[in-house]
Amino acid sequence: MLMINGYTFSEYSPMFWYCTRKKSRNCQAKARTDGVGNLRFLQENHTHEPPEYHVTASGHYVKISGARDFAGEAL
Ligand SMILES: [Zn+2]
Repeated sequence: MLMINGYTFSEYSPMFWYCTRKKSRNCQAKARTDGVGNLRFLQENHTHEPPEYHVTASGHYVKISGARDFAGEAL
């Protein structure tokens, strides 16, 4: 999982990332990293608002349960 500007991406193939809403929202946003994890390419054409996450003190991302996106759809 990769988080960029509040949006989450899943790694579909090595170093190629697609928005986690690719299927549910037909979102075309994508990113590419290099072998050491640096962002090399980012296309932020999201079709939706970013999911709401809470960052814990330990730096882990926790999805807020019951949070809803702009269309009122349960996350
Ligand atoms: Zn997206």
